[in-house]
Amino acid sequence: MKTQLEHARSGKVTPVMIAVARSEGVKPEKVRREIARGYAVVPANPIHCNSGHAIVGRAFRTKVNANIGRSTERSSSREEILKLKVALSAGADFVMDLSVGPDLSSVRKSILAKCNVPLGTVPIYEALSLVEGDVGRLDEDLLLSVIKKQAAEGVDFMTIHAGLLKRYVSLALKRVMGIVSRGGSILAEWMIRKNRENPFFSQWDKILEICARHDVTISLGDGLRPGCLSDASDKAQFAELKMLGKLVLACRRRGVQVMVEGPGHVPFDQIKMNMEREQIDCYNAPFYVLGPVVTDIAPGYDHITCAIGATAAAYYGASLLCYVTPAEHLGLPTADDVRAGVIASCIAAHAADVARNLRGARDRDNAMARARMNFDWSRQFELALDGETARKRYEQTKSKKEKQPDHCSMCGRDFCAVRATKRLTEMSGIRSQRCRSFAGIK
Ligand code: SF4
Repeated sequence: MKTQLEHARSGKVTPVMIAVARSEGVKPEKVRREIARGYAVVPANPIHCNSGHAIVGRAFRTKVNANIGRSTERSSSREEILKLKVALSAGADFVMDLSVGPDLSSVRKSILAKCNVPLGTVPIYEALSLVEGDVGRLDEDLLLSVIKKQAAEGVDFMTIHAGLLKRYVSLALKRVMGIVSRGGSILAEWMIRKNRENPFFSQWDKILEICARHDVTISLGDGLRPGCLSDASDKAQFAELKMLGKLVLACRRRGVQVMVEGPGHVPFDQIKMNMEREQIDCYNAPFYVLGPVVTDIAPGYDHITCAIGATAAAYYGASLLCYVTPAEHLGLPTADDVRAGVIASCIAAHAADVARNLRGARDRDNAMARARMNFDWSRQFELALDGETARKRYEQTKSKKEKQPDHCSMCGRDFCAVRATKRLTEMSGIRSQRCRSFAGIK
């Protein structure tokens, strides 16, 4: 079986590419070309046949990923399925199952069965769960068997931290927060205890064979992503990034689709440099960022610190935004947290797409402006990223006595600037046709 990358390189436009082109409103040839160059990926394991398709790359709409998954201390399969439903209805384009603990295969299978978007995993979580958290019992064969099993079950993309080499660990341990990636910290401990190189790195060719066989997209994990502003853009982070670039080339040579994961906690003024550096060091492989979170001091509101950083990241180079929920740094997210996180990241993704003039991105904003000018509330709720919340807020504060739609409680009838503008437009007759049509005047 050929991967989408191999098909694209041979000049073939596949049904997956046609489906993606339709949803992006572009020609299939553009999709094929971007995949062939390695500038875009379509995680699409054929075994996960109930999944729709989504493309990640700079030439396309910025996408949002939601992480779900059971911890060893909280939640259940049922709760995680609820979170999956919430994430999908809020607009997530991708979902990752980060579950740990016993019987992960059955949790994953039930998620795969209900997940109609591409699903990702972090195989080292299952490997460590199988040895009951004992890092010393992990070995190369176990890691490969987990990757093989997950690929055969239909996982569309996998985070593999193959670029965290043993010699980088000492760089990271000089930091304020050290290693904050779960996968990164497991691998660092394994390498130091066994005095051996990263098993994903030493088994890289075998991993590529498995991923090529099932067309699993590799998401190169950033095991040394900064976990606080003080650690951002340091030697450890960029040493790993450089190595990720070499692994990108190895994936492309083997015909395996690949994207690169990125930071983390990054001050706002360093985001542009980080995005540009990834594009150079990783040969324009799609960049998948966690946040970035732009300040360390807002626990409880990290979906907002993430959305601020993610907007800049998507504007300057990222193609896939991993959401952050209000529970980040505090505990396992609830279904409400998942919803808030997805919406915040969707806002960031859309704001960036508007700012980078992506074709059609602004259409919805223009339609919203028209609906506002016309006091067309139903249309406003239809266009809103979270129409349900918008409707609820409108209904909550609406005056019981007010029967006309051209009113809301913010300014009240006599102080409503929109009503005043409409009156002025009708009186003056000097406004452009564009303003008149926005104001709903024939
Ligand atoms: S009342 Fe104020 S907030 Fe409401 S539509 Fe008019 S101008 Fe806008």
